[in-house]
Amino acid sequence: DKDGTFAYCTDNFLKRANIPNFGLVNGRHYKEIFSLFSPEWTKVFDSTFKKIMRGKISIVLDETLDIFKKTPRHFKIHFTPMVDEAGETGGAIVLFHDVTDVILAKEQAEKASRAKSDFLANMSHEIRTPMNAITGMTNIAKATADVEKKNYCLDKIEDASLHLLGVVNDILDMSKIEADKFELSYSEFNFEEMLLKVTNVLAFRIDEKKQTFTVHLDNNMPAFIYSDEQRLAQVFTNLISNAVKFTPEGGAISFSAQKNADKGEYCELLINVTDTGIGISKQQQEKLFRSFQQADNSISRRFGGTGLGLAISKRIIEQMNGRVWIDSEVDEGSSFIFTIRVKQSR
Ligand code: ADP
Repeated sequence: DKDGTFAYCTDNFLKRANIPNFGLVNGRHYKEIFSLFSPEWTKVFDSTFKKIMRGKISIVLDETLDIFKKTPRHFKIHFTPMVDEAGETGGAIVLFHDVTDVILAKEQAEKASRAKSDFLANMSHEIRTPMNAITGMTNIAKATADVEKKNYCLDKIEDASLHLLGVVNDILDMSKIEADKFELSYSEFNFEEMLLKVTNVLAFRIDEKKQTFTVHLDNNMPAFIYSDEQRLAQVFTNLISNAVKFTPEGGAISFSAQKNADKGEYCELLINVTDTGIGISKQQQEKLFRSFQQADNSISRRFGGTGLGLAISKRIIEQMNGRVWIDSEVDEGSSFIFTIRVKQSR
């Protein structure tokens, strides 16, 4: 009412303030009630109450408060005087609007949107670089009659086109994941043959960087498994090509696979890709599997890349009922380790 004694409050208010029933506040002055919780808040309340009653105006406060003695929450507090037709103030309504979750959601949305903007900038770069190579090489090829030079240009155009296709495929995969439309297609295949296909494609780059590449398949590995061959190959390609990319010349990369556990016709495989490269700090490791994230923005400038590969790999692995983790020290190298559950066949 106009003197500041409680005439009504909602059940929700009582619950949050930990007051068992309305009878305990009914007819009591706000100073009596709020000073139980916080003297500072009582002062703010008091001066705002007096202002709105005197001026017959509404005031909204934006406060982070611990009035309810739990963790501080963020409130929008609306003070509104109740003025009758004769212009008399009969009392006031005070509404606590808890906006903590709204603010957190907004911060998260802003962070996600910033990450996407960075991603778009990065992606434009990733697309433009091979596009420039393609148009440049096409011009050179058209201007020359020399067959050897034309062939050289065609080779470069092929490289750049394949790279571009990879970038576009990553973006497509990512949008499927974001739209929850990412599905696996299963078939039976020979594990070792699939691995060989993957490493054949990467062998050229490994040679180029004079790195050693060793493969160890444990004796207990099933020869044939039933899983999504193409998607598993995509994970291997991502992890091995990252290992090659982030390991200096002359470094060592190893791949190992073993059967972890048998559960009837299913088994769990444990796969490990280890390198002697630049490594990843603990802080960066946490971010790596999130979409649109690279360990460090300077890394994308130095090495290129979309930052999508690991997010896609993680999703594939999880879809295969597995999990993935990193064991790495800066300058000491990295291990990317993951499990998947597959149906084994003879
Ligand atoms: P891309 O390599 O296309 O940027 P990824 O999702 O495959 O995208 O990798 C994300 C980031 O993770 C890389 O930019 C790099 O910072 C870090 N990273 C991945 N693999 C390794 C590795 N083997 N050694 C060091 N850093 C790595």
